[in-house]
Amino acid sequence: MKSYRKELTMQTAGRRELINITPQVEQALAESGIREGLCLVNAMHITASVFINDDESGLHHDFEVWLEKLAPEKPYDQYRHNGYEDNADAHLKRTIMGREVVVAVTEGRLDFGPWEQIFYGEFDGKRPKRLLIKIIGD
Ligand code: ZN
Repeated sequence: MKSYRKELTMQTAGRRELINITPQVEQALAESGIREGLCLVNAMHITASVFINDDESGLHHDFEVWLEKLAPEKPYDQYRHNGYEDNADAHLKRTIMGREVVVAVTEGRLDFGPWEQIFYGEFDGKRPKRLLIKIIGD
């Protein structure tokens, strides 16, 4: 069995952003040379997510509105976590949107269902954050 590991560094201009990272994951898969196996992609920070969904701007707006209803960024003092930090909402948003995804690798390709794309969800950005890609198989 082969194994391949790659880190990406993400840095967003805004506090919250959704980025389609499918091309970067496909690039890592090509570098790995693995044809059959599993591909794990996870955020390495507890205020960012990796998830799979549709690359559709209306839906991305809906995620922003929905997450702000569930865990509004402001007022900051509504959260016990906020004292030295102001990112309690980002921890909560990350938990809902998930830490990682696993995609099957078949015949050297990410074995997606219709419209599936991999996203990095940043909820406390404007600084470098790491993302891990780990691929195992043959
Ligand atoms: Zn925090």
